[in-house]
Amino acid sequence: MTRSRREEIAANLHAVRGRIGEAAAEAGRDAADVTLIVVTKTSPASDVRLLHELGVRDVGENRHPDAERKRAELGDCDLTWHFVGQVQSNKAAAVAAYADVVHSVDSERLAVRLGAGAQRAQRELPVLVQVDLDTTGGGQGRGGAAPPAVEALTRAVATTDGLRLRGLMTVAPLGQPAGDAFLRLAIMWRQIRMTYPTADMLSAGMSGDFEEAIGAGATHVRVGSAVLGSRPVLR
Ligand SMILES: *Cc1c(COP(=O)(O)O)cnc(C)c1O
Repeated sequence: MTRSRREEIAANLHAVRGRIGEAAAEAGRDAADVTLIVVTKTSPASDVRLLHELGVRDVGENRHPDAERKRAELGDCDLTWHFVGQVQSNKAAAVAAYADVVHSVDSERLAVRLGAGAQRAQRELPVLVQVDLDTTGGGQGRGGAAPPAVEALTRAVATTDGLRLRGLMTVAPLGQPAGDAFLRLAIMWRQIRMTYPTADMLSAGMSGDFEEAIGAGATHVRVGSAVLGSRPVLR
């Protein structure tokens, strides 16, 4: 007998929660201080509904308008929708109207557009500044501001009407030790929090490296395939 999708997701979720608990214990942290965001980007709304039934309250999406559509379809579920992908400038105002948190602010230009969209929607949008920790200098197209630009960008976000600075986010650079990147991010985060106490989120770690991120102090891990299974290659 084949397992139902619900059983499959439940088992994966259980395993991931167990790993989060172990990583937190190993780091001397309380697992309750680590929020699991399940990244549902290529999954149908029916999977998101199952996740909700299984107790998940935070989900991540990376594309407009998929995110907007799923959110509308699941309007009856109390879910926090995290936008974790790069935001195209011409989509910024739309994203600012429905996202609960945007993790991927990497330019002042984008901050201004998100802030304007949030104001138009009469809300304050929580955002994180995404940091690109690639040391090869090539940039890997995964978004993020270079470390020397982060301080000015956090200041810009903190002073943009419509936005609320909530912290920093990164995607570990490919082919480099993720743990080093996460530790560098955590150091930047500690400095930023001294100036901006609202910046209480450190968003780091995906299916392949969330334990290292927890070790470095991540408050939010973004896990997709370890919960939902592998995605088609195209995204
Ligand atoms: C897809 C994605 C994730 C989740 O990746 P997995 O490897 O499937 O866990 C996390 N963060 C971002 C920004 C993503 O685009």
